[in-house]
Amino acid sequence: TYVVIDNCIACKYTDCVEVCPVDCFYEGENMLVIHPDECIDCGVCEPECPADAIRPDTEPAMEEWVEFNRKYSEKW
Ligand code: SF4
Repeated sequence: TYVVIDNCIACKYTDCVEVCPVDCFYEGENMLVIHPDECIDCGVCEPECPADAIRPDTEPAMEEWVEFNRKYSEKW
């Protein structure tokens, strides 16, 4: 899955949401999140993000961000 990290805070762009083929972005409290079970790992959103906030969960230390993204995508 891909996840959104805190670089997203205060970013006003939603280009990522528009390109996602499965609509798995959700609005968290002050940033967007990706539902980790809905993301199909296509990677299309990553280059669209001007804040470099979208990362694959294969990067180191991403487990907490996966859980954060899950938590806030289920809340809304
Ligand atoms: Fe959507 Fe693809 Fe980005 Fe996952 S990697 S959030 S499916 S655009």
